[in-house]
Amino acid sequence: MNIFDAQRQAAQLAAKSDSPVADVELLLCYILGCNRTFLFTHSDQRLTEAQQLQFEQLLERRLQGEPIAHLTGTRGFWNLELEVNASTLIPRPDTECLVEKALQLISPATARVLDLGTGTGAIALSLADERPAWSLVAVDRIAEAVTLAERNRQRAGLENVTVLQGSWFEPVDGVFDLIVSNPPYIDPQDPHLMQGDVRFEPRSALVAEEGGLADIRYIASQASDFLAAGGLLLFEHGYDQTAAVQQLLLELHYTDIESAQDYGGNDRLTWARWPINSVEKEIK
Ligand code: GLN
Repeated sequence: MNIFDAQRQAAQLAAKSDSPVADVELLLCYILGCNRTFLFTHSDQRLTEAQQLQFEQLLERRLQGEPIAHLTGTRGFWNLELEVNASTLIPRPDTECLVEKALQLISPATARVLDLGTGTGAIALSLADERPAWSLVAVDRIAEAVTLAERNRQRAGLENVTVLQGSWFEPVDGVFDLIVSNPPYIDPQDPHLMQGDVRFEPRSALVAEEGGLADIRYIASQASDFLAAGGLLLFEHGYDQTAAVQQLLLELHYTDIESAQDYGGNDRLTWARWPINSVEKEIK
C-alpha cells in the first residue's frame, strides 16, 4: 500500500465522519511523522508493514467513532500543537474565536488573566504565547487535566502561565483584568451528546445543569470578587444561550454586555465588564 492507496481509504469513513479526507491525512501524517505537503509530493511512497498495520488499526478505531485527536494524541489550536487525551475536552476551532476576542478586548500591555476550566490549557497557553507580558493563571478541577495543561505549558516553553488544580475559583488568589472560561454548557438532555467526538469526552467538561447554564451562572456570580474594577469576564457558551447569559450577567450587575458569533456564524461568546464603581454584590 502506498500513500495514495491509503488516502483512498477515506471513502470508508464517509458515512462516519464529517471530514473523512482530512481524518485520513492526519492519521498518515501522524504515522509517517510528516506534514501534509509530503503526502502529495510522495504519494507513491510505500508504507512499511508496521506503518500499514498501524494505519489499518487507527482507521478501524476512527470507524468506531474515536476522535482523531485521541488517535494522534494532539490537536492544533491557535499557534500551538497541544497534547490531548480523554481526561478533558478536545480544543475546538470555535474556542479560537474566544482567544481572538480576548486579544481584541484587552490592550497588549501587561494584563492579569484567569482561565477557568482550562482543560488542555488551550485558551491560557494561546494568550500567553501571543502576549508574553501578560501573566496568566489556568485552573482545572481534574488532576489529569492539570497534568496535561502543565505538560502543554512546558512543551510550548511558556513561563508566564501558572496551572493550578481546584474547582473554579477555589485555588485562586488576587484580582484579574480578564477572566475567561469555556465551561461545560450543554443541556444534559441535548441529543448531540450521543453524536461524534463528544461521546468520547468527559461529561464533566460538557454538561451543566439548568439547561447548561449552571456553571456559567456560578462563575459569573463569583467572578466579581476576582475582577479588577473595570475588568472583563468572557465566556464561550451554546449557540442558543446568548439571551440567557446576557440576562444573568445583567442581574449580577455587570455592564457593557456584548456577544459575538463563532466562525460558523453561531452565537458563541458573551462578555461583560465589572463596573469601575462596583456596586456591592448584596444590593440585588
Ligand atoms: N462546543 C462544544 C460542543 O458543542 C462543547 C464545549 C463545552 O461544553 N464547553 O461540542
